[in-house]
Amino acid sequence: MKDGGGLATRKIRLIMSLRRAGITDTRVLGALERIPREAFVPRPFVDQAYEERTLPIGEGQTISQPQVVALMTQALEVKASHKVLEIGTGSGYQAAVLSRLARRIYSIERHRALLVEAEQRFRELRLTNIHCRYGDGSLGWPEQTDFDRVMVTAAAAALPAPLLAQLKDGGILVAPIGSERGDQVLMRYRRHGDEWSEEALGEVRFVPLLPGAVETSGGRSTAATAIEAGAGAGPRRRTLA
Ligand code: SAH
Repeated sequence: MKDGGGLATRKIRLIMSLRRAGITDTRVLGALERIPREAFVPRPFVDQAYEERTLPIGEGQTISQPQVVALMTQALEVKASHKVLEIGTGSGYQAAVLSRLARRIYSIERHRALLVEAEQRFRELRLTNIHCRYGDGSLGWPEQTDFDRVMVTAAAAALPAPLLAQLKDGGILVAPIGSERGDQVLMRYRRHGDEWSEEALGEVRFVPLLPGAVETSGGRSTAATAIEAGAGAGPRRRTLA
């Protein structure tokens, strides 16, 4: 940190910078203010919890930078009555933010060790409306279908078909699309019956959406998430495959 100030001061400063960066939804800003990001990062990084950066969370995975969390949350247009599916629980931070905005959150993680830690955080913070599952999120959560909103927090070359299929008519899905090393674009899909429209929201960098689940510890490191550019073209229409 260049300047001092306790975590509370840093948090207020961050919220103000998010507002300047175009996060105008006061419910989203309020949720970000209420969830302690420091509770979701490893102890050595607590000081950096309110900096605009990605942080490692173990198993080679990362917690997205605050601006990306804010942008994705705002783009999802979550309402209080909503049932939301998140793919990639990671630290649990994004799910915690969503849990302040929606009725119920379902979150899937493929690393057992990360999920155990995230669930512990939810218990400590008494976030009782988050339900987690260990497994491959590409398959969605068929027993709980369908969802008002779906958020994917790992990048896939193409959106897994089950996730769109488990989205309610009129629902919104936000996901980073692209390869691990190449360009990734944050996409927003809206379902209209058997059709959907898609909209590019900007360039991002996420860890990859990988198949299968991982029982034991010991992942690869690196990867980050960052918004690199502004908005893309307007919505396009497609037919469900
Ligand atoms: N939302 C998280 C950050 C996501 S990092 C947070 O707020 O901290 C991406 C996460 O997606 C990683 O934890 C990774 O293990 C997980 N992931 C990758 N592929 C997956 C898959 N197919 N199913 C479930 N989780 C997956």
